[in-house]
Amino acid sequence: MSEFSENISRANQYLQPFKAKTTGHFINGRVVLPAGAVTYDNTTPVDNSSLGAVVTGTAADVDLACEAAEAAFADWRDLPGAERKKILNQFADKIVQHADEIALVESMDCGQPIRFMKQAAIRGAANFRFFADKAPEAQNGLSLHQKEHTNYTIRSPIGPVGIITPWNTPFMLATWKIAPALAAGCTVVHKPAELTPLSAMLLANITKEAGLPDGVWNTINGFGEEAGKRLTEHPAIKAVGLVGEGATGSHIMRQGAETLKRVHFELGGKNPVIVFDDADFDRALDAVVFMIYSLNGQRCTSSSRLLIQSGIKQKFIDALQQRVKNLRVGHPLDPDTEVGPLVHTGHYKKVMSYMDIAREEGATIAVGGERREDLGAGNYITPTLFTQATNNMRIAQEEIFGPVLTVISFDTEEQAIDIANDTIYGLAGYIWTENTGRAMRMARQVESGMLWINSENNRNLPSPFGGVKMSGIGRDGGDFSFDFYMETKNVCIAHGTHKIPLLGR
Ligand code: NAD
Repeated sequence: MSEFSENISRANQYLQPFKAKTTGHFINGRVVLPAGAVTYDNTTPVDNSSLGAVVTGTAADVDLACEAAEAAFADWRDLPGAERKKILNQFADKIVQHADEIALVESMDCGQPIRFMKQAAIRGAANFRFFADKAPEAQNGLSLHQKEHTNYTIRSPIGPVGIITPWNTPFMLATWKIAPALAAGCTVVHKPAELTPLSAMLLANITKEAGLPDGVWNTINGFGEEAGKRLTEHPAIKAVGLVGEGATGSHIMRQGAETLKRVHFELGGKNPVIVFDDADFDRALDAVVFMIYSLNGQRCTSSSRLLIQSGIKQKFIDALQQRVKNLRVGHPLDPDTEVGPLVHTGHYKKVMSYMDIAREEGATIAVGGERREDLGAGNYITPTLFTQATNNMRIAQEEIFGPVLTVISFDTEEQAIDIANDTIYGLAGYIWTENTGRAMRMARQVESGMLWINSENNRNLPSPFGGVKMSGIGRDGGDFSFDFYMETKNVCIAHGTHKIPLLGR
């Protein structure tokens, strides 16, 4: 049997329980399927067939989950950090044990090629280990001295938090958001994206095996407009971490206004990769291809705008066209597949609509732009390259979130900065040049939360991750995550020597 056939056979086995019975919520340590619950059909992008029914969470379901998280909070908060560390490391061990199941189920649910989802499962475990190790010191603060007073700060977990995640890499993102919350001592109500609920339920099941106390981690399935909305309004929830679209962030700000929610948003991007004439041509080409066509282009940090300097423009585009034509589109469980099907028919239609938009705007579709009919009923498209584009076109301004790259040329460094910054977004940027001074000037001037020089998006868990402008509010990673999930209290102690102002003497 080929590796592909073996993957299909194991995936079918893992998916069987989801097909056999309705996927419920996970509340207070058990699976909950409310009597008379409304359900929806969860489909696979491979052929749009059903992977089973999923419960549509109501406000009442969310209330139960929030109450469970509230009831579990004090004990979890008061557990010594070393104990939380032990449990979260056990959780990471369980992820590794279930990595094959997680990767295969995830690929079938969201269409991401197995070559990337295998790594995503392992990265999920790494996220837990990293934050587990930081749990014992999460409450540590600063010591700030004055002549007659000493100040020190203490951090304490903010309370139960809501975590709302999207469909592009559901498992990895859930772990990235939930691990620091738990390490800080918060309890969690997680609402995964309605389009990709399965790996979130695998995670919830592991909580029991790992020894997480009931109520510390709760998962609510359903739609943003109902379940997500109630989660962001619930008074027990003290903070909301969202990974999703900008419009969703705006809704959540409004919904959370009444209860003054602290919010952390990781939103969309239209990230520039700027390649100068003096760049290392081959490495730049490899990175440009990887950063837009990996993960089906459904990636927040994808470099969806290529800004290419005029001196190497034609040579670079020629080489790029060849690479894009060579990309292997196919079934996500085929180990050779580099680009899989788009997550859902709705998203497929959105991405395909940009082909007409590109033509109407006068850009050239140099490669792709078509449906892959030969691959059957799934949401398969040919990886696409738009050339002859200008930055004012919609294909350069709007987040397409597919394997689609828009190429814009520039002459000078100043022009590159102007084009890079002419967008509502500011998540990531990539610069390719052998001129260190220029790289450092650009790093200051490009408006983005993250900038990589001569690299694709290398990740370092202690480093801050997040965006500026319409790409987000706040930073994740290392201690930055704890700043969000924790409150800082200042304690000021007098040395007994200072003068107290006298009134009424
Ligand atoms: P989305 O905003 O439509 O949905 C994200 C989550 O929000 C889902 O769980 C959804 O149910 C929920 N939601 C929707 N409306 C809500 C509401 N009114 N109240 C509460 N919750 C609500 O995003 P998507 O389409 O699932 O994901 C794609 C987007 O995510 C892209 O814009 C992408 O760039 C972004 N993203 C950003 C990052 C990052 O780190 N910056 C990472 C991955 C994805």
